[in-house]
Amino acid sequence: MRVVVAGAGIAGLTAAAGFARDGHDVTILERRLDTTSGTAITLWPNALAALDAIDVGVDVRAASERVSGGAMRWCDGSWIRRPDRDAVLQALGEPLSVLRRVDLTEVLTRATAGATRLRSGVAAVSARTERGRAIVGIADGEDLDADLVVVADGIGSRLIHGFNPGLAARYTGASAWRGIAETRIDPELAGQVLGPGVEFGAVPLPNGRTYWFASRRLPEGTIFDNEHAEVSRLGEGWPTPIGEVIAATPPESLMRTDLYDRSTARRWYDGRVVALGDAVHPMRPHLGQGGCQAIEDAAVLTGALRGGVPVGSALAVYQRIRRPRVRRVVMESRAVGRAVSARPVRLSGAAIRASRALPDALMLRHLASIAGSEAFARQWRLLVRQHRGGMAHQMHGPAAVPLRPVQTWCPRQDSNLRPRD
Ligand SMILES: Cc1cc2nc3c(=O)[nH]c(=O)nc-3n(C[C@H](O)[C@H](O)[C@H](O)COP(=O)(O)OP(=O)(O)OC[C@H]3O[C@@H](n4cnc5c(N)ncnc54)[C@H](O)[C@@H]3O)c2cc1C
Repeated sequence: MRVVVAGAGIAGLTAAAGFARDGHDVTILERRLDTTSGTAITLWPNALAALDAIDVGVDVRAASERVSGGAMRWCDGSWIRRPDRDAVLQALGEPLSVLRRVDLTEVLTRATAGATRLRSGVAAVSARTERGRAIVGIADGEDLDADLVVVADGIGSRLIHGFNPGLAARYTGASAWRGIAETRIDPELAGQVLGPGVEFGAVPLPNGRTYWFASRRLPEGTIFDNEHAEVSRLGEGWPTPIGEVIAATPPESLMRTDLYDRSTARRWYDGRVVALGDAVHPMRPHLGQGGCQAIEDAAVLTGALRGGVPVGSALAVYQRIRRPRVRRVVMESRAVGRAVSARPVRLSGAAIRASRALPDALMLRHLASIAGSEAFARQWRLLVRQHRGGMAHQMHGPAAVPLRPVQTWCPRQDSNLRPRD
């Protein structure tokens, strides 16, 4: 199949890697010339299991630092939650992966090599289905013809409006700094630190570095003359390692992003045009699931198209499986975001501290339903069930993931689709 992917972010590149794995011919259009920007990202076990489904999980884990999740402190240093590490691993299936975005991009790009052309500096301006073919219009007036167009152009997507008119992003009232510190933190202190209206987080990265982020309420479009000084001031008096990681961050590697939210698209596909990632379902970053859900989208989409399934039925299956799961994650991310930046700020403090009352076991069960390996395995089983009658075979998570073996659907036995063991 000839596939054109619009956007080389996490969603587009993961989809391209999945299509390349299955032997499709892929062209990626990326409007930027340089895609190396960004700091780092946390990938939860649900995303790692999805990466396994397209055979890149091993390489992503190898480029990452592995950390436990779920730890939370209050800004006076007291623990809001410090779940037992073994209990976290058991609930989630494996540790989280933290890696630089540039390293994730590199692993995904490597996985597309051979089957994929990347045209950078080329923006897609339209996507439509005409006489049974998918057509992408690009900025210079050229039309590209394909069997499938994948819309992966992020929260500012213009292509999604072609089949979901009226979607508009809204400023959430909060802005976030992100940075990579040239210092390694004690892994015991990895996690979030919360205060009234402010959130910090820090997790170790490979090579003795640390990825950290901070968010607080700010008027939209605020610019500080010295962003580093501003965030340093915000972190003053906060417990270790907040001050240390900010101080060890080269100012030029600091970035700040105003946080936007938008309704999830109602239609995920139209004819031979299908969308995934932030283009369909942007979400607030407080659960660290935006990129993870984009990866799940890509795995389910490429899985649904395996084995020569007609495009129309595969896209319907993709939407049916993904929409309910994503809707829940979007709503929960929004609820957490509202609690963190609630007004007056003492309300946000009260809401966060009240969450202490939830027993760890319950919290972990809930977290696992969003971010555990099993949460993705459930999606994969749904996919298999939708294609009942196909030749099922075992898909093993390539790493030592205590992921229950999942059935993957693969009715045709050509060389690209052979069961892997
Ligand atoms: C502060 C913060 C922290 C976060 N932390 C995490 C985290 O720890 N874990 C996690 O999973 N998620 C996290 N996220 C969310 C995550 O970054 C996003 O959900 C994810 O990057 C979305 O990927 P995407 O490919 O859908 O969109 P994008 O990353 O926006 O990629 C879209 C791509 O399309 C290109 N493009 C746009 N328009 C066109 C066009 N017309 N033609 C061609 N190309 C085009 C863009 O240049 C871009 O390269 C965080 C987000 C924020 C803001």
